[in-house]
Amino acid sequence: CGIVGYIGENDSKEILLKGLERLEYRGYDSAGIAVRNGKGITVFKEKGRIADLRAVVEDEVMGTSGIGHTRWATHGKPNRVNAHPHQNDSDRFTLVHNGVIENYHHIQRDYLADVQMESDTDTEIIVQLIGKFVAEGMTTQEAFSKTLTLLKGSYAIALLDAEEEQTIFVAKNKSPLLVGLGDGFNVVASDAMAMLQITDQFVELMDKEIVIVRKDSVDILTLEGEKVSRQPFKAEIDM
Ligand code: GLU
Repeated sequence: CGIVGYIGENDSKEILLKGLERLEYRGYDSAGIAVRNGKGITVFKEKGRIADLRAVVEDEVMGTSGIGHTRWATHGKPNRVNAHPHQNDSDRFTLVHNGVIENYHHIQRDYLADVQMESDTDTEIIVQLIGKFVAEGMTTQEAFSKTLTLLKGSYAIALLDAEEEQTIFVAKNKSPLLVGLGDGFNVVASDAMAMLQITDQFVELMDKEIVIVRKDSVDILTLEGEKVSRQPFKAEIDM
């Protein structure tokens, strides 16, 4: 299983698909990508291999940012509906997640009793909860950090907001996730290998930080919103 993300000036589809292919070694049963452009977010997902996903991705849908996921099912069987990305009921938020949310039942019962779930995953409650908090008046960043404080378990998360086109929101807890730095773009990946063809500069993320990734900046914040500074490292891997 693995996560990739790209935000920059070029079409993201091929970068995401290549990145997912480089994460194939981690094992998966389904895969998906979401790309975002001025008209909104489009999700493509499929059970099976990256080649099966490629077959459903429409060439004419472009997006200068996007996120991708390979799934190793833990909750909900491997099928297209349970494949990531997942969206909240208004489709404003789109999210990929690796890991396991141990208290997803409680969150569903306590916060989301009125929300119709589309999938059988533990993941969907994350994106529905963010959507609910934003509908109640929070900013996306506030909703994301409030949601993270409620989650128990492991996660690497990348989130797109259709109304905040310049940003990918990222966080991790007990699951690997790195941010890669480029010139005019930045990326997100579970493993540096996935993005080594476009950058070898990476920033390590710590558990329970919120990372605001834009094409020309990466801001790492604590859940309380305080800035954290961290130097990038050079990934030295022979390809
Ligand atoms: N628990 C999530 C699911 O079953 C994520 C699995 C993964 O890490 O790929 O959809």
